[in-house]
Amino acid sequence: MFAGHFGVAAAVKSKTPQIPLWSLLVSTQLLDLVFFALSTTGLETMEPLGDGGYTQVMIYAFYTHSLLGALVLSILAAGLAAFFWGKIAGLVIGAVAFSHWILDLIVHRPDLPILPGNAGEFPLLGLGLWNSFPASFLLEFLLITIGAFLYFRYALRSSGPKRRARAITSGCIMAVFLLLCLGFDVLA
Ligand SMILES: [Zn+2]
Repeated sequence: MFAGHFGVAAAVKSKTPQIPLWSLLVSTQLLDLVFFALSTTGLETMEPLGDGGYTQVMIYAFYTHSLLGALVLSILAAGLAAFFWGKIAGLVIGAVAFSHWILDLIVHRPDLPILPGNAGEFPLLGLGLWNSFPASFLLEFLLITIGAFLYFRYALRSSGPKRRARAITSGCIMAVFLLLCLGFDVLA
C-alpha cells in the first residue's frame, strides 16, 4: 500500500486547503519513511513472500508500525504541525499520520505489534487483506479514486473562472500522480 495512503492525503487536502499538500503527503507516509530509514540499520526489515509481487510481503517494522510507535510518531507530527500552522493543522496532520497505521492494520498480514519491539509478545495485529489481490487492489483503487475526485472538485471550486485551466491541470496532475503510484505498487 503506497498509493492508497496518498489517496487519503489528497482527500484531506480537499477539506483542509489551508494545510500544505506536501505536509499531508509526508505525514500519510511518515511511518514508512521512518521505516525505510531504520531498515538501513537493519533494525526493521521486510521479506518477500512467494514471488514477492504486489501484496506479497511480510514487514518486520516492530518500532515504527507498533501501535504505540505509530501513536508517538503521529503525536510528534501533530505537535510540529501545530507549532507551525496552528491547532487544527496539528490535529489533522496527527490524524493523517495515524491513518497510515489503520490502513496498514487492514491490509497487513499479522505483523503489527502493539508495543515497540513487540515487548510483552502480545499477538501481532493485521487483518490480512493482502491475502486477496483483488480485494487489496479494489481498496487501493477506491482510495485513490475518492482522493482524486475530491481533490479535482476542490481545485475547481477554489479557482475563479480565469484560473479554471490551472485548476483542471492541477486536478489532472494529482489523478495521474495517484495512478502512477498505484502502478508502482502493483508492478514494483
Ligand atoms: Zn506502512
